[in-house]
Order: sequence, then C-alpha cells, then structure tokens
Amino acid sequence: MDMAQRTITEPARQIPVLMEADVVVVGGGTTGPFAAIAAARRGKRVVMIERFGSLGGNLTLGLNTKPSGALVGGLPLEIWNLARSVGGAGEDYMAMSKTGDVKIASPCDPEIMKILLTRLCVDSGVQILFETFVSSPVVESGTVKGVIVESKAGRQFIGAKVVIDCSADADMAAKAGAPFIMGAGDAAKTMQPVSMYFTMNKVDIKRLADWARTSDDIPARAIPDTEEGLAYGLWLTGFNKTLQRFQAETGIKLQRDNITLKTADGLMYVNATRVPGVDVFSPVEFTAAIVECYRQIEAVAKLLREQIPGFENATIGQIAPVLGVRETRHIQGEYTLTGEDAIEGRFFEDSIGADASALDIHEPRGGDVDFRGMRPYEIPYRCLVPLGVEQLLIAGRCISADHTAHARSRNMPACMATGQAAGVAAAIAIDENVTVRKVPIKKVQDELQSMGMPLHGDQVN
Ligand SMILES: Cc1cc2nc3c(=O)[nH]c(=O)nc-3n(C[C@H](O)[C@H](O)[C@H](O)COP(=O)(O)OP(=O)(O)OC[C@H]3O[C@@H](n4cnc5c(N)ncnc54)[C@H](O)[C@@H]3O)c2cc1C
Repeated sequence: MDMAQRTITEPARQIPVLMEADVVVVGGGTTGPFAAIAAARRGKRVVMIERFGSLGGNLTLGLNTKPSGALVGGLPLEIWNLARSVGGAGEDYMAMSKTGDVKIASPCDPEIMKILLTRLCVDSGVQILFETFVSSPVVESGTVKGVIVESKAGRQFIGAKVVIDCSADADMAAKAGAPFIMGAGDAAKTMQPVSMYFTMNKVDIKRLADWARTSDDIPARAIPDTEEGLAYGLWLTGFNKTLQRFQAETGIKLQRDNITLKTADGLMYVNATRVPGVDVFSPVEFTAAIVECYRQIEAVAKLLREQIPGFENATIGQIAPVLGVRETRHIQGEYTLTGEDAIEGRFFEDSIGADASALDIHEPRGGDVDFRGMRPYEIPYRCLVPLGVEQLLIAGRCISADHTAHARSRNMPACMATGQAAGVAAAIAIDENVTVRKVPIKKVQDELQSMGMPLHGDQVN
C-alpha cells in the first residue's frame, strides 16, 4: 500500500486564537516541565502543550524512571529530592559496570513523579494543555510567532514570544526549517533502536538479589545490602548467557543480547525489548514496532519466569503506553556537541550545565550495551539554538549533538538540564528585549548558578 505519491489539497481556513503566551513549551515529557517551571518562576506566562494526559514522557509514561547519572543540581535535583521526601525515589547508588563504576540517581516512582511535575508546574503558574497535539509552528519572516494545536476543540493558534521545542523529535524546529541530521547521518542510517519497557508484579526481589550476587551473567549491577535498599536500588544489566540459552531451547528469537532489571518502590521494571531500524515518522512502521515489542515482552516474561530465581510467580504488571524512542533528529545549532567534547569533558565558555550521565550506546544493529561512567561534560548554550530560525530553542534529546555525544546528552539528567536552561534563557531574552540567539549568556549562567546548577565539570561534587 504505497500512498506516498498521492496528495490532496487541504482548503485554507480561519482558526481561532486560543491564547497568547510569553513562552510556549512544546511537549511535557522529561524536559518540558523543567523549561516551563524555569520560565514561569521568572514571571513569564507559560503554556506547555502535551499530547498525552500526564507529564513526564519517557521518564514516567515510558517507565524509564532512572536517570543514568547523578542529578548534580538545579531543578532536576530539587524535584528528585522532593520525590525522595515523599517516598517517590530512593538514594543515589554506585553501579558496577564492565568499564568502571557509575554513580546513578535512584529511579523514581513514575506515578508520584507525574503528580509532582504537575503540581510544580501548576504552582509556578504554568498553563498546561493536556491531550493537545502541536501540529506546527507559525513562522513569519524567519521568526516563530506561535504554534497551531489540535485538540477536541479543533485547530487553534497559540501566540508566543519564544517557543521551546521539547518534543524529543524536534517537530517544531524541523517544521520551522532548521537543518537536522537523522541518527548518525550516514548512508546506513545508523540510529539507536526503539524499546518498550514493562513491569512485573510478584517478583521475590530478595531471592533474585541473592542469586544475582553470585551469578556470572550480570556484568553491570547494583545490589544493595538491605531490604529497603533493594526496593529502590536493585539494578541488574546482563543476562546474555540466559538469553542465548533460552533462544536455543525454545526457538524464540529476541533482538537483544541483554536485559536490564531495576526496582522502584518494590516493583520490577524490565528493559528487554528492541527493534532496530524503525522509521518512527511512519505511522505504519511505528505501529509494527509496537506489535513486535509486544511479542518480545511476552517472550521475555516467559524467560524470566522460567529461568531467573525470584520470578517464579511473576506476572506482567504494566506495559508502557508509549514506545521508547532513543534517537531521531539532531537539529543543527550554533554549535554541535561532538563525541570528543562529551567523552573528554571539554570546557565551554557558554556552558549551561555540567552533566554526569554515563555514555549509553545501544548498538544500532544489535549487540551489547555500552554503559560507561566517565568524567562530567559540559553542554554549550549554542547547542540549544537552532540555525535558520529565530525565537525557537530546542531542549531534550533533540539538541545539537552528534550521534556519539547524543549517547550521553540523551540521558535524562542532561535533558532536564537543557530544559531548565532553555526556560531561563527564554525568560531573560524576553526581559532584555533581545532574541534568544543574542541572549546575554552570562546572565543566563548567573541565574542557573543561583539555582544551584554546576556549569562546569570541575564544579560537580
Ligand atoms: C527504552 C529507553 C530506555 C532509556 N533508558 C534511560 C535510562 O536508563 N536513563 C536515562 O537517563 N535515559 C534513558 N533513556 C533516554 C531518555 O529517557 C530520553 O532520551 C529522554 O527521556 C528524552 O526526553 P525528552 O523530553 O526529549 O523526550 P520525552 O520524554 O519523550 O518527552 C517528549 C514529550 O513531548 C510530547 N510530544 C511530542 N511531540 C508532541 C507534539 N507534536 N505535540 C504535543 N506533545 C508532543 C510527548 O508526548 C512527550 O511527552 C532511555 C530511552 C529509551 C527509549
């Protein structure tokens, strides 16, 4: 069914203006709330538009829950500490991996996190619009003037002085004409695979931990000593031999060589599915990937029940309602963060945040996961400023970074830090009556530091 060649003409029409904002944040996922809260706390009228019915995106709906690195300051740490204070996250822990130890923030309880993100947004005056899809930016003479949204109310316009694109796929920046590359930008279309998380109920976590301590099939792990610790801090990555054995015995094919298990509030989260080479901008391919993930989830649940101590009575609890997409567009900004920048932790004069996330590359054509802890790196403000369009900022996993740098900057601590910085920069640009491209970076940095955000690698504790 190839409809690609056919087109129809959609008639032009008048649409209502729903509201006017200073700052419109597109996407209320891992990144958007940080941008929205940061701008709203600086007195700006902020509208954040989210296509689903709750906040957090991959962090909550995607069941990811665990930042791959410590949260080093600012709003991300504030929110994590808030979650800890209400039993929605545990203590940070040291994880052992093949290439070194990594300090990781504890996972959060995604339902508590949804509540906290929503409350913080509302308390800081953010107007959230749930179940509303942003169709496109409205651009006049190269400057973004607002966005067109679609909801049960139909098609409407929301005006904005600055739009922050936190849609993960950079929907706004791409439609506004900013240049981008997909994945590694090579002929082979190298791109990290998609996955779908699920949870399992009724796992005997202590039995699992006791077995894992002596297993030679789990090269990366964090196994706390106490029962309380296990409820939030058990993290196991490996199971390669188990996977090989299971596939040989059953004839079931899985597309992944490892499984990650982690606990949050005593519930077991499983990251074990993988579909490579998916064009997520094709609804047909996207759907096929979800169908394939469901097949894999059933198979992995069987594997865990049959082969891993502690899972004997386990049942599937929840399947993430969203497909986890790791990589799509990298918008080209005033600067593109390179793999060397991110791995060597280079100094940037205009850094908006140091990030201590691990390097987490999923081999696009299968194979093992490379999860490496390394020195903090810095994200320049210029990576948030797309080329070719004014009054638009990008934050989250679509910032200007190459394929290798993205393996660090796509991690949630970095996404949150870029969201926070974009919100602050938008507010300051409006106050100073300058474009976001020309915002006085020193003022942005001073503000971020006053929020407790380390800007440079040597400021991370
Ligand atoms: C399977 C998987 C496992 C991962 N594991 C980890 C991990 O262990 N640790 C870690 O730190 N990182 C991990 N990551 C990476 C990390 O989770 C993501 O890169 C990060 O959450 C992306 O944040 P984001 O805000 O850019 O996107 P999202 O969290 O996806 O948020 C984007 C939001 O925008 C909304 N949206 C999109 N388009 C529109 C539109 N047009 N209109 C309205 N709303 C829109 C979406 O609904 C969503 O809520 C993982 C990723 C995947 C896929």
